[in-house]
Amino acid sequence: MGSPFLKSPNDNAAIVNRRLTGPSSGSALVRILELILLILIGVAVWQYYNPTAWLSFSVNQAPSIDSPPMPTVGERLCARQLEKVRMAIDSYHFAHGKLPTTLSKLHLPMQELRCPVGGEDYVYNPSTGRVFCPHPGHGNL
Ligand SMILES: [Zn+2]
Repeated sequence: MGSPFLKSPNDNAAIVNRRLTGPSSGSALVRILELILLILIGVAVWQYYNPTAWLSFSVNQAPSIDSPPMPTVGERLCARQLEKVRMAIDSYHFAHGKLPTTLSKLHLPMQELRCPVGGEDYVYNPSTGRVFCPHPGHGNL
């Protein structure tokens, strides 16, 4: 219909539209910013679905740097032997109601009372019942 009130909103919309899409130095900058934003969103989404990708690479590497080195065959042998000696001390303690005064009281073969790597005699503390290997690097076995 020929009402003059219907015409003015369309005119206003056309002016707004011209301002948004018209050629200017500002719109080029906005387009670049939009492109950067799209790239950032794309990277974020890609990272979300690919947690093993490059940004988390350093995170995945960290535990392997901090983890202790694999025990050597000798260390494992010594640790197993020490475990055996400790079990013998425990059973001696259980059977006699006291700790053995020396490791020879355990009646274990002599070769089981020394380090399989260096041949050092195991160090035993009769007041605490603790036994350890004096071989370098075996102190915490
Ligand atoms: Zn040892």
